[in-house]
Amino acid sequence: TRVLLTGGTGFIAAHVLDLLLEQGYSVVTTVRSEAKARTVKDAHPNVSKDKLDFAIVEDIAQEGAFNEAVKADPPFEIVIHTSSPFHFNVTDVKKDLLDPAVVGTTGLLKAVKQSAPTVKRVVITSSFAAIIHPGKGTRPGYTYSEKDWDPITEEEAIQNPSNGYRASKTFAEKASWDFVESEKPNFTIATCNPPLVLGPIVHYLRDLDSLNTSNQRIRDILLGKAREEIAPTGTFLWTDVRDLALAHVRAAERPEAAGKRFFITAGYFSNKEIANIIRDSFPDLASKLPTEDTKGGDYPEEGVYSFDNSQTKEVLGVRFRTLKESIVDTVKSLQAVGA
Ligand code: NDP
Repeated sequence: TRVLLTGGTGFIAAHVLDLLLEQGYSVVTTVRSEAKARTVKDAHPNVSKDKLDFAIVEDIAQEGAFNEAVKADPPFEIVIHTSSPFHFNVTDVKKDLLDPAVVGTTGLLKAVKQSAPTVKRVVITSSFAAIIHPGKGTRPGYTYSEKDWDPITEEEAIQNPSNGYRASKTFAEKASWDFVESEKPNFTIATCNPPLVLGPIVHYLRDLDSLNTSNQRIRDILLGKAREEIAPTGTFLWTDVRDLALAHVRAAERPEAAGKRFFITAGYFSNKEIANIIRDSFPDLASKLPTEDTKGGDYPEEGVYSFDNSQTKEVLGVRFRTLKESIVDTVKSLQAVGA
């Protein structure tokens, strides 16, 4: 079976790619340049071109960006769309976050409908950002699930990069469901909506400064930045990137995943717990780390929202790694690149 995977250079996509290859799929992944294609190829020296190939898509925010990439021989049956900007380092929310997310996703769906009639399923990486209603605070007693939508508006979206990111995920996911509803394509979609994703890095990394956003809090603790005070946790739910990759592949394979959102959540975490796990598991690092008494990074006193991950467990059969396993493996992978 042939799969088009968008954004093969990304933190999450790299795990999806490795799992697809391991399971015998033939994968074409989009990357922004020939140089990036080479780095992904070099990381898979024993994989032949019929199993791993590349399509260059420089900027998913451009109309028609995927028009050529969706055409392949042999043709695709599955598309997995992970690429979308996830960082807060933006000057223009619309141009830097909203357009790549929304135009990228709808452009891909249009291109598949138009030129890839053999595709049966498109899996889209959405987010808890498209589910959570931050205006309600930490919401003790409320249970988030697939039925919830972030009510963010166009006007709120451009107020700051954090709103911009949540809006980019919300608007892009909404546009996908609307597309299916109005265009009635031959394929079905499923969305993967993880909260904060932690886990080992297997993708090419230029340096620690260019680490993907969600792992930066672990890097910062390792680099001694939490010694005086641990940063606020923000979102209190997480999932391991390897479990998320498996969820993507199963959401692509399983007939019963059609038309579903999956809130892919392992459980709770706090930055303080991350620091505690690192201190317990890597005693050599103690001098750089916060102690049990260091302030900050804890759960709010009033408590936090609950979550319902039953659909992911039942339909996708995913079993979640523990926070400890995830953090230990992430730290080892960061040490290997110089942390
Ligand atoms: P990365 O930053 O590692 O990956 C983002 C990918 O998108 C990269 O391949 C990047 O390419 C590509 N990309 C971004 N903007 C463009 C553009 N304009 N044109 C072409 N390619 C682009 O982040 P993650 O792996 O964490 O994120 C992957 C997906 O998962 C995103 O959709 C994100 O919203 C979602 N997600 C992530 C969570 C997390 O905690 N990590 C949580 C919930 C959802 P390049 O590297 O070449 O710039």
